Amino acid sequence: MKPRFTFHGGVHPPRHKTESNGTPIRDAGLPPQLVVPLNQSIGNPARPCVAVGERVLAHQRIADADGNVSAAVHAPASGRVLAIEERPFAHPSGLPALSIVIEPDGRDDSVDPVPVDWRQADSRTLREQLRDMGVVGLGGAVFPTALKLSDGGLETLVINGAECEPYISCDDRLMRERAADIVLGVGLLAERMQAKETLIGIEDDKPEAIAALTAACAGTGIEVVSVPTRYPGGGAKQLIRVLTGKEVPHGVRSTDFGVQCFNVATAYTVWRALVLGLPVVSRIVTVTGAVARAGNVEARIGTPADWLVGQAGPTPDSRGIIMGGPMMGFTLPAPAAGITKATNCLIARSEALLPPRPPALPCIRCGACSEVCPASLQPMELYWHARSKQFGRAQEYALFDCIECGACSYVCPSQIPLVDYYRYAKDEIWAAERDRKAAELARTRFDFRNYRAARDKEEKAARLAARAAAAAASAPAVAAETAPAPAATLDADKQAAIQAAMARAAARKAAGAGKDPAAPAATPMSDADKKAAIEAAMARAAARKAAKAAEATPPPSESDAP
Ligand code: SF4
Ligand code: SF4
Repeated sequence: MKPRFTFHGGVHPPRHKTESNGTPIRDAGLPPQLVVPLNQSIGNPARPCVAVGERVLAHQRIADADGNVSAAVHAPASGRVLAIEERPFAHPSGLPALSIVIEPDGRDDSVDPVPVDWRQADSRTLREQLRDMGVVGLGGAVFPTALKLSDGGLETLVINGAECEPYISCDDRLMRERAADIVLGVGLLAERMQAKETLIGIEDDKPEAIAALTAACAGTGIEVVSVPTRYPGGGAKQLIRVLTGKEVPHGVRSTDFGVQCFNVATAYTVWRALVLGLPVVSRIVTVTGAVARAGNVEARIGTPADWLVGQAGPTPDSRGIIMGGPMMGFTLPAPAAGITKATNCLIARSEALLPPRPPALPCIRCGACSEVCPASLQPMELYWHARSKQFGRAQEYALFDCIECGACSYVCPSQIPLVDYYRYAKDEIWAAERDRKAAELARTRFDFRNYRAARDKEEKAARLAARAAAAAASAPAVAAETAPAPAATLDADKQAAIQAAMARAAARKAAGAGKDPAAPAATPMSDADKKAAIEAAMARAAARKAAKAAEATPPPSESDAP
């Protein structure tokens, strides 16, 4: 099938593909340490689920996806977790990222694969499997693939094999060597998403890849389309435009136009993740530039970039490493950073190969930049507004439609690093947006704090009022209880109290004389009773005296008997 459409602009930089695409993919080998960054997707970094000192197995999940726009991370080899800490990260900012450092033991003991029955499984299960297997877009965007898997209604499934950046040939070699597995992945995606047509777009400078995929697609209904070699024809929007004629505006998803796009390497990993149950622990990386053995290697995620370049034999004039291509890539601020799923190419740079850009001259308004812009922008206007920090004006000129392809910088006769200005403007706008959101959050928290203080004050006032009302309601009864008694009643009460006290004193006195204090009080004796008592006592004494006298007289003997 011939492409029916074209896209605006584009350039033809030197390809530099043959340096690396002539030899088969090699195994990169096992570095002494793997520094696996947890920023492996466009979304949230994954959350570690292993501990320092723990032995991990190859393919074991070492970090869980954090939220929807995230993907899990797995151990690329068996070994010991040396550290979980911030390490240099493969990013233009040079800022560190939380990484899991593994010391491989060389045994490559692996966990068992966990495949799913992708034909029977529901979409949710498939999406979870893709997320948990760490599948992200391997074209460089690292967008979580799970989020792109729709439930059908797809007009066109576009598979991107264009690989338009100079120097990069990892997809080319993958298509040549693993075409059958790629087509299995493409067929799976097409079936699940019920695509009416499935097109694989490959630039026409890769005839071997086109031949391999055409053969593998025979009888599947999948069509391989050779597209003209023109940078940036491998941009998703440009390829969709070329294959379907549809223009996808900025801020609109291609699925709104019935089109979804996956990279060939992503389709390959989808197949491995769902059918073989194998997570993404490695990727094909082009190692090229100022090296003796340029080529493509299958490298484990976390392999230090300088170690990989070192394996390829850097030439004596090699200085620094570019990650990505010369158009969209960047010089690694920390060459020892571990490679990520976004690392498609490492170029050992030298002055002979990639001379430094001469100093920029003033813009002459030649218009060359707008002629090559694939997004139909006015790059020179963007440049002026970005340079003068009029970011609002830059946004009015559709700054965020810029895909940072670098075509404008490439043709600028004044050697103005235009893309650097756009990136700067975007960063400033994002930073301002982050600050605005932070300020909004702080204001919301402050308002809530004030509201809470006011609410507590009101509640306290209400409690005090309620307590005062209750006290007022009970006041008459208390007053009655505590009011002074009339004088007559008081006297009578006093008399009664005095008598009771005297009675208690008498009882205590009686108890002190050996009487039972509980016994009733004795009745005073009359004189007659007293006289009778005295006589009774005298009688008892006389009786005792007589008894004693009788005891003193001897008893009569037998001789005394008559
Ligand atoms: S190509 Fe360069 S010099 Fe020409 S208009 Fe654009 S920015 Fe100005
Ligand atoms: S970098 Fe942006 S402005 Fe320049 S050509 Fe590419 S899309 Fe257009």
